[in-house]
Parts: sequence; structure tokens; C-alpha cells
Amino acid sequence: MAETFEHARNLILAKVAPLEAEKIDLFEAVDRCLAAEIYAPYDLPLWDNSAMDGYALRAADALEGTVLPIITTLAAGANPAGVEIKPGTAVRILTGAPTPAGCELVIPYEETAELDNQQVKILKTQVSGAHIRYQGEDIRGGSLVLGVGVMLRPIEINLLAALGQTHVMVYRRPKVAILSTGDELVEPGMIPGPGQIVNSNGLALSAAVRQAGAVPILLGIARDQPASLKAKLSEGLKNADLLITSAGVSAGDRDFVREVLTDVGIEQIFWKVDVKPGRPTAFGLRGTTPVFSLPGNPVSALLTFEEFVRPALRKMQGDKQILRPLRLARLTSDIRKKAGRTNLLRVILVDQQGQLTATSAGDQNTGITSTLLHANGLAILPAEKDFFAAGEQVEVHDI
Ligand code: AMP
Ligand code: MG
Repeated sequence: MAETFEHARNLILAKVAPLEAEKIDLFEAVDRCLAAEIYAPYDLPLWDNSAMDGYALRAADALEGTVLPIITTLAAGANPAGVEIKPGTAVRILTGAPTPAGCELVIPYEETAELDNQQVKILKTQVSGAHIRYQGEDIRGGSLVLGVGVMLRPIEINLLAALGQTHVMVYRRPKVAILSTGDELVEPGMIPGPGQIVNSNGLALSAAVRQAGAVPILLGIARDQPASLKAKLSEGLKNADLLITSAGVSAGDRDFVREVLTDVGIEQIFWKVDVKPGRPTAFGLRGTTPVFSLPGNPVSALLTFEEFVRPALRKMQGDKQILRPLRLARLTSDIRKKAGRTNLLRVILVDQQGQLTATSAGDQNTGITSTLLHANGLAILPAEKDFFAAGEQVEVHDI
């Protein structure tokens, strides 16, 4: 019995959980997911400061035509202690400098004329509060600023650094062992002999693992014999948090993977999924270690990785956005398929004045890798339907 596409993914996600947390240097933390809430220890900005190069004044003096004496200059880094703006005076101030006592607004240079380095003329009336960045207007001390599961982008790193953090608690990256299987395979760099092909899946899946935020471990090639498979699988299961095999799970005579997986103590969760491509996708567990057996065909291997393995890896890293966001796109031509299987249609997504369109990226045969080369998205065509008319909206995601 094959699982539906949706049920297969739910079964996987129900069985995987975030790995343990670890403390790492902020320098290494981009793209990692927070394992602890972050509260601001203090306000940001730390103190009121100027948003412009200009003059700090009293509001009552900020009238067009007024001439004021310049009593001093405050640059970024200056200590404003002892400086006070009394009525009828101005302080020259630079961006980022603390505003001194009595400052009610800042007039930018462009709206003034300096008469003789000691006096300034106001060319434009300004309102109280103009061009001041107030203490705590950005981040309030004591407030929750980042929640668990937030993926750290440069702006989150900026905030953590500004709040004085040098290290951060994040979920550990999963180590993922990748095993290619097949008597026909030779490693990249070797010239394939008659009947042989290059093990391209090993490196392709490693790349996909890395993009998913995890750490690939290449186990090489297992031959289509139980002993060879068993040895490699056991080796992989020793060090990895997740294991992927490719090929050898279909009904072919030499397909031993299924039998050997059971032999090494992997509990079978499902063996087939009603998805095209990717029907011979299997999932099991050895203890808490997820084991995926993906189809051998490179297009099928990468698309099943995308839909089944990547979400598991995101969840193991504590990401709160496990699945890629789905959007609606209009098909630009009729699409026919067999009812009964979800189809992962390789498409070219184009935004046409706010309207997203999906165009088939070419021959959808799984042997055609060039269609995936041209694609930038996948359309998820529901199992039960067999026809989609041009102009119909379907769910898509980027790849
Ligand atoms: P199988 O699942 O063993 O029937 O393999 C399906 C197809 O994928 C066959 O054409 C294999 O030659 C091909 N294939 C299997 N493993 C790999 C691999 N590691 N790299 C590239 N192609 C592969
Ligand atoms: Mg094979």
C-alpha cells in the first residue's frame, strides 16, 4: 500500500524532532535557528541621538529667519554631559551624536545657512521632535525580541550583537549520511565503462543536504549485494543523525535495499508514496534516526529530497518554517495527468505585474534532468484530478 503524498509527509514530520541545542559564536550563527528566547537587556537606541547632521535647538527657536549663536559641536562618540541648549542658542550636531540637554529637535544642515562659523540662520521652520532618534524607540529593554525557531539572518545577528551578545543558543545541525547503491555506478572523475554511469546522486544529494542547513557525509557506493549494503548502512548509522540511500527500492530483481534495511533493524514506516516522480520512496526509523530510501533517478532523488527529506531536516534544526511557503500560480497551458498520484510538475514561475504564472519547464519525464535545470519552481498537482485547464490556479513553491 502506498501512502498519499500529504500523509507520507505527516508521518515523517511526526517522527522527527529538533536535535539538542548548542552554544555557538555569533560569527558562525547565520542561517541557524534559535533554541532560546532572546530578551533585550537594555533599550535601543541606548540614548536619544541625532538622525541627521545639523543643529540641535529649542523648538521655540526653530523658526524660519531666526539667527542663533553656535555654542559647540557634538560629533558621534562625544559625551554630551555639561552641554545644555539654552533658549536662543544652537549646538552643531552630527549623525549618531547624543542629543544634549535642552535639545527639542534637530534641523538638518540643508535647512540652514551658517553665517560665519559662529552663527546659524534657520531657513525652514521645524516641529518639536524632528530628526531625533529617541531612546528605546526601536527596541524596549526587557522586551522579547526573538522567539525560539527564528532563523538568524544578518539583521538578527545585528540585533544580537547590538544587545551585547557574543554567543547564541541554536539547534545542532544534523549529520546526514548519503549512500548510493547500484552495480552500474562509478565515482565522479572515473570514466564509465560499458553499462556504467557516474554516481551523480552522491554529490547532488550532498549539495541538497548542505542547502537544507545540514552536514553531508558521503558513504560512497554500495553494490547490489546484501553484504555490501549491510556494511555501508551499518557504517552510516553509526555517525549520522539521518541516513539517505538512493536507488534500489523499486521492484527490480536486484533491489536488496528494502530487505537489508529490515535486517539492520530499521522499522518500516512506509515503502511507497503516490507521488510522481518518487513512487519508490521509503521511510523508516532506526531508534530515532530517520532513514530515507529515495529513487535512483537523479530527478526523482532530488524532488523527493525536496518534498520529504528537506522538511525533516528543517524540523531537526528547530526551524519554525519547515515547509517552503506555497503560493498560487496560474497555469499557462493545459496539463493532463493520471488521477491517483500527486504530481510534482517542474515549472518556470514568472511574476507578471503581480500575477504569478507557472509554465511547464519542459518534458516531465524523470529521465530529463534538463527540465529541472530550467525550472525555478514546483507545482503540486493534487492526486485526485487528471486535468488542469490553462488559467487555472495551482499551488506552487520555489526550488
Ligand atoms: P534503481 O532505483 O536502482 O532502479 O535506479 C533508477 C535509475 O537511477 C537507474 O537508471 C539508475 O542507473 C539511476 N541511478 C541509480 N543510482 C544513481 C546514482 N547514484 N547516480 C545517478 N544515477 C543513478
Ligand atoms: Mg539499481
